[in-house]
Amino acid sequence: AITKETREFQAETKQLLDLMVHSIYTNREIFLRELISNASDAIDKIRFESLTNHALLENETDFEIFLIPDETTHTLTIADNGMGMTLDEVVENIGTIAKSGTKSFLEKVKEAGSVADTELIGQFGVGFYSAFMVAEKVTLLTRAPGQSKGIKWESTGDGTYTIEECDKDTRGTTIVLTLKQEYHSPEHQEENFLNRYILQNLVKKYSDYIRYPIKMNFVKEEQPLDAEGKAIADAPPSQTVEVCTLNSMTPLWTRNKNDISKDEYNQLYKTLFHDWEDALEIIHSKVEGAVEYTTLLFVPAHAPFDFYQREATTGIRLYSKNVFIMDNCQELLPEYLRFVKGLVDSPDFSLNISRELLQHSQQLKLVGKNLEKSILKTLENMLSKDRSKYEKFWNEYGKAIKTGVYADYHSRDKLKDLLLFSSSQSEELTTLQEYTDRMPEQQKVIYYATGKDRSAVERLPQMELLKEKGIEVLYLFDRVDEFSIDALGEYKDKKFQSVSRGNLDLEDIGSSEIQKEVQELSKENESLIKAIKDQLTGKVADVKLSSRLKSSAVCLVSGDTGISLSMEQILAEMNK
Ligand code: ADP
Ligand code: MG
Repeated sequence: AITKETREFQAETKQLLDLMVHSIYTNREIFLRELISNASDAIDKIRFESLTNHALLENETDFEIFLIPDETTHTLTIADNGMGMTLDEVVENIGTIAKSGTKSFLEKVKEAGSVADTELIGQFGVGFYSAFMVAEKVTLLTRAPGQSKGIKWESTGDGTYTIEECDKDTRGTTIVLTLKQEYHSPEHQEENFLNRYILQNLVKKYSDYIRYPIKMNFVKEEQPLDAEGKAIADAPPSQTVEVCTLNSMTPLWTRNKNDISKDEYNQLYKTLFHDWEDALEIIHSKVEGAVEYTTLLFVPAHAPFDFYQREATTGIRLYSKNVFIMDNCQELLPEYLRFVKGLVDSPDFSLNISRELLQHSQQLKLVGKNLEKSILKTLENMLSKDRSKYEKFWNEYGKAIKTGVYADYHSRDKLKDLLLFSSSQSEELTTLQEYTDRMPEQQKVIYYATGKDRSAVERLPQMELLKEKGIEVLYLFDRVDEFSIDALGEYKDKKFQSVSRGNLDLEDIGSSEIQKEVQELSKENESLIKAIKDQLTGKVADVKLSSRLKSSAVCLVSGDTGISLSMEQILAEMNK
């Protein structure tokens, strides 16, 4: 047995707690959502593991979450009978947050200078600590299945916590919040978290879809009645306790699409995926076919700030008949769509499917193919019907789509019409289709130029002639732009041609007079050109007179074959 010990929080945890307590004032009510969602996760966990190890349940199979407000102690208790924690687990999960999310959260807050909105907390997965926004003391009692003793953890959020062994009969975790004065005073109409009706509303608002009953006792007072059925005025009232389930437990996605409001979708989205903003796009569909499934997908309004740096994880959750199986199902979507969040619920998925088995599941492959198709269809529609929304999308996830073009051989063709490019035409972005529609008939190729931004590209000496001839050039500012153009090779039989590569093939478009002149001048200056070439042996492949330049004296170009100049720069950088 261990005796009571006081331990220090990690430095980062301290910072985080300090923030919770002193800097965040809006929306503190979300602590309840966070604690209920943890309870629900813990029940999910034991429910799933008990499929292969029934003994875990210890005959207690009615899963539930209980809320107990207590006026006399000023405490609000949230109790679950999910998978409790062992000592090591408490220390690991609650005592220290080694989670990378915390660091990012703190950095983000520092960056922003303040915390605009509490919901950031959820996004970074530091949910448990939100309890300290409303509680002066948090006590956690927990017992893992099969353990004879429980663990008691307690902290006032001041930098240390205590941990000790304790007795606990029931399985699961009980969290007791000793509320701060301002959160239990009856004067605080909206933030009195001991008020049953306020609690009921919060559950409805944030946790209605939770699949386990969230229960609370309502005490009813009644005057005893006399023989004639009249209340006896001076008798003490009798009290009856009624257990109520506060949430409807119907998962949103099982309901009819037409009966669901945007707001309901977004509430679910925010709760499930820890976002504080509405989703940019929502896809909800029921599919009956070889595999029957319901899917609810979201495109977040913003890519996570570290989206392009971290390893790809998808945000797709699997359910079978409303029962959670697993999250981050990698196998469902191609990597370039990893920004899509959502869930798939299918009676055809097996509940005790393992990650290993998943990889070979034909059903899953089929569903994955369909999901990809319907996401791309949605994006195509957005592009054609709501351009400004699509550009918002592009701004966030364009890079992912471009990555798909060069990294995903199978999807390349389906993605080419979703690409947007800057161009010499105007400040607006253009699709390849729009570019080719504007091409003069004699133009055989699609021209592009690379550089770090618009003004850099427009300063390229190679651009001069094209500009003069009024030929539109795609501007590629992003390194992946060129990779994806290379991967495509051509669009509708028009090859891509870099303005800094080989012969620009402009004769047909412009006058051939110039070409003739160049040829003549080349002949006349043969010896000069040869002399320059000899000087530069080993540095350049060839020296030519060119009609390409207007005011610059010389420019470097790549050959007709081989890699382009900017690609060479990228490769050189990578080899450093
Ligand atoms: P997250 O839920 O995103 O993991 P939290 O800060 O909300 O982050 O919770 C931290 C961890 O503490 C959880 O991952 C879980 O392991 C553990 N935990 C919190 N609440 C409970 C609970 N009621 N039952 C079991 N474990 C819990
Ligand atoms: Mg949580």
